Amino acid sequence: MNDLLPEVVAHWQRTEAIARDVLHAYGYREIRLPVVERTELFARSIGQHTDIVEKEMYTFEDRNGERLTLRPEGTAGCVRAGIESGLLHNQIQRWWYAGPMFRHERPQKGRYRQFHQIGVETFGVPGPDIDVELILLSARLWQALGLGGLRLEVNTLGTPAARAAYRTNLVDYLRSRVGELDEDSRRRLDTNPLRVLDSKNREMQDVIRAAPSLLDYLDEASRAHFDGLQELLNRAGLSYVVNPRLVRGLDYYTRTVFEWLTDRLGAQSAVCAGGRYDGLVELLGGKPTPAIGFAVGLERLVELLVQTAARATDNAPQVYVVPQAQAPAAALVLAEALRDRGLRVECHCGGGSLKSQLKRADNSGARYAVLLEDADRVAVKDLRANEGQRTMALADAAEYLAKQLAKQLANPAYR
Ligand code: ATP
Ligand code: MG
Repeated sequence: MNDLLPEVVAHWQRTEAIARDVLHAYGYREIRLPVVERTELFARSIGQHTDIVEKEMYTFEDRNGERLTLRPEGTAGCVRAGIESGLLHNQIQRWWYAGPMFRHERPQKGRYRQFHQIGVETFGVPGPDIDVELILLSARLWQALGLGGLRLEVNTLGTPAARAAYRTNLVDYLRSRVGELDEDSRRRLDTNPLRVLDSKNREMQDVIRAAPSLLDYLDEASRAHFDGLQELLNRAGLSYVVNPRLVRGLDYYTRTVFEWLTDRLGAQSAVCAGGRYDGLVELLGGKPTPAIGFAVGLERLVELLVQTAARATDNAPQVYVVPQAQAPAAALVLAEALRDRGLRVECHCGGGSLKSQLKRADNSGARYAVLLEDADRVAVKDLRANEGQRTMALADAAEYLAKQLAKQLANPAYR
């Protein structure tokens, strides 16, 4: 679990702000959910024989002896909240959420025990139109962030019945090559054989490539859905690859699955993963409701943005108030007046020599220092330009600085 120190948080805030704007441009509304849920909820929705439920959850008993779990993902909580509040039945909902998730995985670059997702869930639309809307939304997000080079993979998992038929044949095939399977895959053979296809072990890739394809087992309706999806993607001009080995780690998916991948993060290549889960609402006690969602891994996304040296919003102060020998109250009052004009202001606290005050002004990242000369005069110093300071009446300082900074913001050459 990581600390996010102030210098990297600027990137997070920029990413979150851009994501919010993109989500709202598509009519998605934010939902905020608890970080802790009953263990039962995840065991039922994600599936007993998944990595998450088998070995990755942070589970504990509270003081009443209830079994609770730190959420490993956001979909189950969304569905629970939607059912409890009666917002899913016969309605169309477009929701998003953001926040920390917890999985006890082996920590490595791009894989952490507390990580953050921005997730999107839609309810009530059965057709591939909304699948493509979600994919377009995610594509617009990369574009808005200035991220190129992500590639889209899509697949369909069909219906549970089609998957059951496929599963039998997949298991027969895998048994015929059991000597080549690693320990994890052998264990999954009996519990969750589709997960074998998701193995990240290089030595397993030959076995996986030659496995039967789920696409040959699809039912009519799932095939039509998948054809519709591809036609819409083509019409929207998005490039993608059909990857028949793309499965999801979670049990509840049906039909459409997709991932956005990068080559720039080593083995942890998926930045965004999503899919349709038409059976989950009913499984958790609601009326049958089609649904699809995706989640973006924020650590991976921010890492990519830092690599591409994207400019993060600068939250540094614009003005640093230097009291010199004047009373602290005068400095605080001036700082308030500057903030009244909408400026970001850091006011020097703690006294010290003029030299140390100016040094702090410089380190703050502020463009200007305002030095209190006496009760009603100040000197304004441009810390980033090699020019002398300008003395003026204290009463004029706020307007002067606001104008200077507005001029610089309007002129990119100044920044
Ligand atoms: P992976 O195959 O990489 O383990 P997953 O299938 O477990 O991913 P999902 O549950 O679909 O992932 O989560 C969606 C996204 O959340 C992933 O694509 C990834 O970007 C991010 N993510 C998942 N687990 C972690 C983690 N432990 N640390 C950081 N990011 C993660
Ligand atoms: Mg995982």
